[in-house]
Amino acid sequence: MLIRLNRYLSMCGVTSRRKADQLIKEGRVKVNGEVVKDLGLKIDPDTDKVEVDGKELKPPKKVYVILNKPCCYLTQLGRTQGGKKTIEELIKDIPQRVYPVGRLDYNTEGLLLLTNDGELAHRVLHPRYKLPKVYLALVRGKVSKNALRKMKQGVELEDGFAKPDDLRIVRYEGENTLLEIVFHEGRKHIVKRFLAAFKHPVLKLKRVALGPLKLGKLPTGKWRELTQRELRQLL
Ligand code: URA
Repeated sequence: MLIRLNRYLSMCGVTSRRKADQLIKEGRVKVNGEVVKDLGLKIDPDTDKVEVDGKELKPPKKVYVILNKPCCYLTQLGRTQGGKKTIEELIKDIPQRVYPVGRLDYNTEGLLLLTNDGELAHRVLHPRYKLPKVYLALVRGKVSKNALRKMKQGVELEDGFAKPDDLRIVRYEGENTLLEIVFHEGRKHIVKRFLAAFKHPVLKLKRVALGPLKLGKLPTGKWRELTQRELRQLL
């Protein structure tokens, strides 16, 4: 995969992206032995040799992490206007710069994959791979067997038809119902919009699995690296 040279320099930890532009302008960066001054240049980290001040850069270690995102955190890095918390503060102790693969709503909890492997991120998000995403949804009201049957047949939403890959009642909780619902698609607010269409608005939403990755007992707000086995299954 091709990436911009300035981004690659910051990924390798040489400097920030803005300062990388400065290094390039100053002629201190070589690609395959040639000084480059083109700020827009894209390189292939697997085949191109990049040097800064005559020292060859080693590609950054690829990291794959899952975070148990708590409620009321934005799935983005950096600061936000309005002072909402972002997941950045939960992953500060990951040495490499990693990016979320897809997103969870501000008030959705659960499994979020983060990586600096752009190719894998692209693959996981691509509809072709149809990675099932498993959610636990606490919805208002008692979902009847009949309503469950109708839900399984799908419904027309404003941006097209939506049908879960799987759906079951886990248990009733007072006047509410805990559902397990699986979608492989990633349209915005898909679970909430789908269940609202059946007059069972979501009160609480948690993603518990993404393809072969399971949240398991990972505490809320904590992250862990994927195991070799998980990685093999995901790649
Ligand atoms: N569907 C939703 O409605 N929200 C999420 O955060 C994820 C899936």
